[in-house]
Parts: sequence; C-alpha cells; structure tokens
Amino acid sequence: MTETLFRDDAYRKETAATVIFADARGIALDRTVFYPRGGGQPGDQGELAVDGGATIPIVNTVYDADRQTILHVPADGAALPAPGAAVVARIDWRMRYGRMRAHTALHLLSVVLPYPVTGGSVGDAEGRLDFDCEATLDKAEVERKLNELIALDAPVGQRWISDEELDANPALVKTMSVKPPLGSGRVRLVAIENLDLQPCGGTHVARTGEIGRASVTQIEKKGRINRRVRIVLSEL
Ligand SMILES: [Zn+2]
Repeated sequence: MTETLFRDDAYRKETAATVIFADARGIALDRTVFYPRGGGQPGDQGELAVDGGATIPIVNTVYDADRQTILHVPADGAALPAPGAAVVARIDWRMRYGRMRAHTALHLLSVVLPYPVTGGSVGDAEGRLDFDCEATLDKAEVERKLNELIALDAPVGQRWISDEELDANPALVKTMSVKPPLGSGRVRLVAIENLDLQPCGGTHVARTGEIGRASVTQIEKKGRINRRVRIVLSEL
C-alpha cells in the first residue's frame, strides 16, 4: 500500500520514500507524490533518485491491481532498485502543473455547461469534456463565461464524506461514465468555493486564478445528444 501525498498537497514536488518492490510492471514505493492515471488524468512522469545509485526516469504512474499500491513505470532498460532501497521521488512539475490547471478548468467548464458529463480527459494545459446535451453551444459565449469564473480566483478545497452521504446526494455526481470510487467507506469531494462541488480524486490548483487564460478551441457534435468541448490554456 502506498501513502498518497499528492491527495492532501498537490503542490508537493518530491518526497523521500522506500522501495516496497520493483518488477517489470513498475516500482512500488511506501509513499509518493506521483499521481497514478485515473479519472481522466494521466499518470505523472518524473524520476526516482536511488540513494547511492542511479536516477531512474519514470514515464508513467499507475495503480497496481489492488488499487492501493502505486507503480512508478520506469523507462525501458532502466535498472530496477532493490526492495528496501531509499529513493527521492520527484515529479516533472511543469507537466503536472499544466494538468492541475487544466483539470481545475474542466471543473469550471462543467459549471458553465450544467449538463451531465459523459466523458473527458486532462492533457498538458489542455483538456476536453463530453456533455449529454442537445443544445447548440456558442463557443465565444462558453469561453467568456469560463474566463469570468477563472477570474473570480475562487479557492479550491477538499473534504471527505461517507459512502452513505454520497448515496443520499446523487446530484453531486456530474460524471455519468466515471462513478466515484465507493467501497472504501469515504469519498473525496473537491469544492470550488460557491461554484462547484463534486467527487474527484485528481490534482487541482489552489485558486482558480492560477488557471490563467482559457480558450475554447472546438465544440464538436458527437451524435445528437453529445457535445465535445475542448479547451486550451495559455502559457503562464
Ligand atoms: Zn477534479
């Protein structure tokens, strides 16, 4: 089982950790700042600096089958560290921060367009959401509203509720295709003050102002009742 430091502090760039095991699938650590692929957000990249040894490039991060252990996938041909080895795990911060900004921007997009979300993905300073929506959407209008919300510089926080509380409040779940993980007894809610509250396990910026300028680059009709909206964030 891996302690998930990115959950409480998405801004943490590195941590000391101990190798639990390392095999062809990846390197498991007792704690990590690396976000594992999930919820439409890709797994982090970065490096593991082995105490007294090599620095191992990490090209992806995924959950192991138990959904409790996080695997750091090394670059092809990298030597694997021994169990018990001390490492410093360091993420590619530039890439991660672009994803945090994009992920938070998608929450705001779901406020601008209050339709059920049927899919989505977070990229590097860009992303998309698919909406269950029959309406014709105006790109310039969506972009204007999205940037108004970003400019509010609203704080982004989190709290935890029980599975039972979530079951009692089904309206919290905007994403039809990705059910929040139930069964662990508690669910993480991400709150953008006075704007948005929904279950989410991803990484976000601390205030919406950090997103910067967002452009709506495309609104695509994917069938009669599906609209795919793509956004791109400007360079900071
Ligand atoms: Zn989120």
